[in-house]
Amino acid sequence: MDCLFCKIVEGSIPSKKVFENENIVAFHDIQPAAPIHVLIIPKEHIASMNDVTPKNLPIIAEIHQVAQKIAVDLGIAESGYRLINNCGRDGEQTVHHIHYHLLGGAKLGALTG
Ligand code: ADP
Repeated sequence: MDCLFCKIVEGSIPSKKVFENENIVAFHDIQPAAPIHVLIIPKEHIASMNDVTPKNLPIIAEIHQVAQKIAVDLGIAESGYRLINNCGRDGEQTVHHIHYHLLGGAKLGALTG
């Protein structure tokens, strides 16, 4: 499958991983938008938020647990962070494999729409 994040999961495209288990991989974003910018993705190819089904809800829930752990490991749990999913064209989703941006390490600007 011609999917950038599936290739990161397989290891055919390199990434700086901060977490991996049987369901999930997390790695540093190549163009960080904050001092800490990690992408958390399921290994399974789910194209976007619109494609989440009851069957894969456990993995979506697990992503929250993984975000919590990474925040502790990277030292931003106390100061705070954001976990963001961009969906579709208006959400400016550019990689069509669902992913959550974990952003922190500085006071983040207001959300804009
Ligand atoms: P946007 O590009 O608007 O942030 P997405 O929410 O789809 O849209 O996010 C895709 C993210 O993937 C971007 O933050 C981008 O910097 C990141 N990215 C693209 N290619 C790589 C890569 N090879 N390794 C790590 N991160 C990547």
